[in-house]
Amino acid sequence: MDSASLVEELQLRVRELEEALARERGGGQGQRARIERMSPEVKDSNPYSRLMALKRMGIVKDYEKIRTFTVAVVGVGGVGSVTAEMLTRCGIGKMDFLFELLLHSLSLLTDFIFFIRNINPDVQFEVHNYNITTVDNFQHFMDRISYGGLEEGKPVDLVLSCVDNFEARMAINTACNELGQTWMESGVSENAVSGHIQLIIPGESACFACAPPLVVAANIDEKTLKREGVCAASLPTTMGVVAGILVQNVLKFLLNFGTVSYYLGYNAMQDFFPTMAMKPNPHCNDKNCRKQQEEYKEKKAAQPKQVVVEQEEEIVHEDNDWGKQLSQT
Ligand SMILES: [Zn+2]
Repeated sequence: MDSASLVEELQLRVRELEEALARERGGGQGQRARIERMSPEVKDSNPYSRLMALKRMGIVKDYEKIRTFTVAVVGVGGVGSVTAEMLTRCGIGKMDFLFELLLHSLSLLTDFIFFIRNINPDVQFEVHNYNITTVDNFQHFMDRISYGGLEEGKPVDLVLSCVDNFEARMAINTACNELGQTWMESGVSENAVSGHIQLIIPGESACFACAPPLVVAANIDEKTLKREGVCAASLPTTMGVVAGILVQNVLKFLLNFGTVSYYLGYNAMQDFFPTMAMKPNPHCNDKNCRKQQEEYKEKKAAQPKQVVVEQEEEIVHEDNDWGKQLSQT
């Protein structure tokens, strides 16, 4: 079965399940209707009041902007499925799923898409099931990054790599370097007790091909070698934490609050979260990475110098939930 007919079968199955649930709930009364505008109003029927409270608390200036963004999620395994669910709960505008699944996993996936559609019917989905590393599919993958935005013909805002192998990561890296597309990479180590996320802005920060030692440092190289007969460990907790820090970084990046991490690691054994930022390698093997670096340098040189005005801010200690004073040790 080719990928087009697989997708058709998938869509058919989702429709069947939706109809079945609607019947079960008596004419589809169970699923809430789409909501045109996010409102801060606090009432039971408003699923967005707590997200919109972020605005009132002064964390996010314009939370409702979340609905204007499209994120492409590549890979729907341990990290990708949790990532997709969180983005759905956050009310993202649209998600483009790209993954490769074998037939026997398809019904699991249709159940999953059905599940997240029910969480938030305001989110739009686009689903493609194929291996992005083959020549034909790679072109289609590039096209969906370029034109698969909320408004057809516009690019997606961010690509998230939730894949588990080196080849697929390199394919995403190649596509994003060529298109100048910002993306975030995620990974969990073979022993399941460490992981990382990385923000890659072509030309501005190190790409996946710029810094192979990062792959080694994150200990994901062994898994990518796919050694015969060796089964990588997996912990849903580590996957969940990595998905959590990934989506947190996505929200900060898209909604412009807090500090966006270029690299954030997670070491579960010591509960250690290392961060760093890496400049791109001028000798990167990817020619489009080198081209993007030149363009970034020109763009920076053309920008007027910013005058930094330092302001002293009054430090206000916020109340904590427990009414206790924090003590210094
Ligand atoms: Zn590079």
